Amino acid sequence: MSDPHPDPFVAALPETFDLLLRGAIDVHVHGQPDLSAGLPNRGTDVAVARLAQAYGMSGWVLKSHLWPTMDRARAVRQAMTGTGFRVEGSITLNPPVGGLEPSVVELAAAHGARVVFLPTWGTAADVARGGYISRLLARVAPSFDEYVARSAIALCDPVGALTGRTKAVIDACRALGLALATGHASAAESRAVAAYCAGIGQRVLITHPLHYTTDPTELREFVDMGAYLEFCNAPLVHPDGHLRIRDVHEALAAVGPQRAILTTDVFSRWVPPAPECLRMFVEQLAYLGWTAEQIATMVATNPRAFLGEPA
Ligand SMILES: [Zn+2]
Repeated sequence: MSDPHPDPFVAALPETFDLLLRGAIDVHVHGQPDLSAGLPNRGTDVAVARLAQAYGMSGWVLKSHLWPTMDRARAVRQAMTGTGFRVEGSITLNPPVGGLEPSVVELAAAHGARVVFLPTWGTAADVARGGYISRLLARVAPSFDEYVARSAIALCDPVGALTGRTKAVIDACRALGLALATGHASAAESRAVAAYCAGIGQRVLITHPLHYTTDPTELREFVDMGAYLEFCNAPLVHPDGHLRIRDVHEALAAVGPQRAILTTDVFSRWVPPAPECLRMFVEQLAYLGWTAEQIATMVATNPRAFLGEPA
């Protein structure tokens, strides 16, 4: 029996609500459940994917700090068959999957992964700064603090050069045509990764650089090396948020939209589902003067290119 009433959430939006999101691909979507089944954050993956599709979006990359998302992506993709909405899986090279292991990248690719995230809470840099994800995971797993301290991963050696393992992982991505994102690497590590990727022609996204620097010169350096820069909505809607939409606006003014990618990265119960977070994000940027064309570059064109597809 079909429901005669439209989705009340979608129906409550203005008629042109989807204009800025047409063709958008959010390359940083956390699923449900994310960090723990005991920390529900929103509706089911399929329900939220339908909402994204209703907003005119073209797809997602599912990301997890703990588990590969290829199977989850496949299940959601199958549920979305016939809609044109695509869902890609990824792997994050944190300690539970063995860290910086080229073989793991190869196996993940064989299982359908399209994006490789370098370690997030598992980086030595994140451990040293008392990372937010680690603090959340320690609430879930009583032994977590000891585990993360023991298994922390440095991307660079003591003199600041990428380790052989980091290079081997990036080489594997290059050989397999996978997109690479920097995870929670430090700004210096991210620079070393971007430089190496520039040298071998590897597509790379600097994961939320504003978490580590707001210096326009440093941000431009990434762009000059051909890296994409991610700007996500999550820190703008967090109770302890260290960023405002104006900070993103100013960073974008410094680097331009040509290499910028807008994502959500939300996984908390105090935010609306990811597609609505992305809509809020782009509407606020539009209010601050970014044109529909520039926004399309940042939510549709660049994510596609990052994934390795022709425009
Ligand atoms: Zn994330």
